[in-house]
Amino acid sequence: MDSHSSGLKNSQFVVPGERLGVIEEFTPSSGTYVQDGVIYSQVTGRALLDLLNKRVSVRPVTREVRVPSVGSIVLGQVSSVQGQNAFVRVFKIGGKRLSGFFTGLLHISDVQLRYVDSMFAVCKPGDILRAKVISEKNKGYHLSTVDKNLGVVYAFCSQCGYALESRRGYMSCPRCGKVEKRKEASDYGTGVI
Ligand SMILES: [Zn+2]
Repeated sequence: MDSHSSGLKNSQFVVPGERLGVIEEFTPSSGTYVQDGVIYSQVTGRALLDLLNKRVSVRPVTREVRVPSVGSIVLGQVSSVQGQNAFVRVFKIGGKRLSGFFTGLLHISDVQLRYVDSMFAVCKPGDILRAKVISEKNKGYHLSTVDKNLGVVYAFCSQCGYALESRRGYMSCPRCGKVEKRKEASDYGTGVI
């Protein structure tokens, strides 16, 4: 086994699992772990070498890559509605905007507790939707809007594109008068996107 440092420089950018050195040369400190005498980085960040005390630690980078997990509340725009599914382009997780986006899938059985006969009575392409991530399989995120505070937060008229107003139990377009249905969130039309 190589007992010498792998040429690690102070403040070097490292990723999880990256070799930092061996326990004969450094005392492992925060942000590291040891396996078979080799010290590895546990996090993505900057390696800090304390040559006086022979310590190595890794200071995590503050900007983490955000990925959704089960239970996350997400905000996205409906990109398409096909049969019993709506595809949602998610751009916020837990109130924080993402640098990119990921796609979530809302199935008709996860819309609300009561029976829904058509996905077009739930949301339409272009709508802004708040949902909860309920499962994650093969990088596919399944969403739910069952809770009262989940569902469409902004909807747009399918005829003229104007923002719809919420009435009791339905939506109406203040410009052209078209009446539509959505699964609304309890704070429809009031939030900041
Ligand atoms: Zn309209």
